[in-house]
Amino acid sequence: METDPNEAAHFRMMLELGERDVLHSTLDMLKVDVLAWDAATGNVVFANTSARAKIGATLRQVCRKNIYSVFPDLSPIRLKRFLVAVSHRAQPELTFHIPHKNALGEMRLNRYVVRYVDGIKPTFVAFVQNITRYLEARTAASTAEALLTTAIESLPDGFVLYDADDRLVICNERYREIYKNSADAMRKGVTFREILQYGLDRGEYSDAIGCEDAWLDERITAHNAANSTVEQHLVSGQWLRIVERGTADGGRVGLRIDITELKQNQEMLEQHARTDYLTGLMNRRGLNERLDTLSDDMKPGERIAILHVDLDKFKSINDSQGHDAGDFVLRHCAKVLRDTSPDQQLVARVGGDEFIVLVKSHRSTQHTLGFAKRLVKMLSKPVVFRDRVCDFGASIGIAFHDPIKSRKTEVALTGADIALNAAKLAGRGVCRLFADEMRRDAIRQISMGQEIRSGLAVGEFEPFFQPQVDTVSGKIIGFESLIRWRHPVKGLVPAGVFLTAAEGSGLMDELDNVIMDRSYCQIWCLRDLGHAAIWSVVVASIPSLNVTPVMTLAR
Ligand code: GH3
Ligand code: MG
Repeated sequence: METDPNEAAHFRMMLELGERDVLHSTLDMLKVDVLAWDAATGNVVFANTSARAKIGATLRQVCRKNIYSVFPDLSPIRLKRFLVAVSHRAQPELTFHIPHKNALGEMRLNRYVVRYVDGIKPTFVAFVQNITRYLEARTAASTAEALLTTAIESLPDGFVLYDADDRLVICNERYREIYKNSADAMRKGVTFREILQYGLDRGEYSDAIGCEDAWLDERITAHNAANSTVEQHLVSGQWLRIVERGTADGGRVGLRIDITELKQNQEMLEQHARTDYLTGLMNRRGLNERLDTLSDDMKPGERIAILHVDLDKFKSINDSQGHDAGDFVLRHCAKVLRDTSPDQQLVARVGGDEFIVLVKSHRSTQHTLGFAKRLVKMLSKPVVFRDRVCDFGASIGIAFHDPIKSRKTEVALTGADIALNAAKLAGRGVCRLFADEMRRDAIRQISMGQEIRSGLAVGEFEPFFQPQVDTVSGKIIGFESLIRWRHPVKGLVPAGVFLTAAEGSGLMDELDNVIMDRSYCQIWCLRDLGHAAIWSVVVASIPSLNVTPVMTLAR
């Protein structure tokens, strides 16, 4: 092999410089061993400090060494083969790596870069570098990278890393699985926006449909925020929680956590919160929400009929046949209402034996009234539970909700309730349409109910005794105790004026008890005053006195 004569001269000059210690100090700064030996004899002609330290000789001693004794790890045959290769090959230098054990028995790896310099005295120059550390570092780095990749791949969640320019650095397989429609765009260097756009074009994100541009802006804003956690719904039906954080070098790291099951459970709980456990119908909360949605969707001319149904004498089924029978009847009625209503989804159970049926329609009031009457008829058919007949009926109050007149659904709901009350007072088993005067009556009844409660607290109710005369003998055979309200302003108020309000306010039992107590007191007073005859008549008129006194309260 020919060596460039300029290069050889150059090298000779360097050797001379070496002898003057100029090159030595320069080469000593290198972290490599530099050796030169005569190509013909193999005698070392130059070695820098680190090479000499390895060889264990001064510069003068080194020059007596032969290259074959300098590389104890290399077999002379192998070294010769290398040297021949260097001197005959087209390229000016040859690099090879040779592992060897150091004095402590540790494995080391040396890199040899050998040059052949042709000239008056052909010379080999070798640069020997211990690259064990470098190799170890490289191995450690690739081991760490492999570990990191394994860790990222074994994550149950989607993992992605973007650099400071928002270009994809790495993502795991799970991430690609989640975003199936965008997976083809997930290549190193592709920007986050490009990946999003690719997915948008393929309808990946169900929460973006119809508002793609706004969705994209919002998503990128969240992605760029310091810390962000957002939820995302995909067309695959999956729900994701996206957690993103900035990295120290300005990039973004993100996790995609599948929360589909959590969402489904939440949905189920919400559904339960809107459902009546016994009948499976909506409960009051579900009804209110449905009513709001319905009124938002109303077309001009449409209104919602609210039919408030309460079973008649239902309590007596519980009392006589037990709660199982009562529950059976409630489930039966729920089915009847569901099967008879124009929309099964618009039936709710809103209390013990109370139901509400919503009918969205532009049809006449008479039509609704006809439907309500049909319901009363269907609900009044006796039901057999465990071979026993359960007898009951139903009353219905009807009010209309017209969102054009009022947005508030509660007004119509209370209207239906008031109309139901009127149906009950009218004797049960009937339907009543709400009218404004019913609300005024109801308000009057409520305020009278409050007055009765206050009157009871201060003892304004008194018994009045009405003799009962035997028409044959003409003798008084007993007394009827009649309630009167000694009102501080209105004077003596007869029972007919306030008993309806008392019944509506649930105060009848309390009034009965007060009159019973006060009647007894007066009977005892009559006896103490010496009216023994009257006393005996009164006592005789209450045959059960010795056991449980019963006095009929005339209303
Ligand atoms: P009215 O004719 O005035 O409507 O009287 P009613 O006997 O039907 O009784 P009311 O409507 O005043 O009260 C309903 C009763 O329903 C009260 C309660 O004991 C009963 N109830 C409430 N919830 C349930 C339930 O889940 N199962 C059963 N079996 N009974 C219930
Ligand atoms: Mg009832």
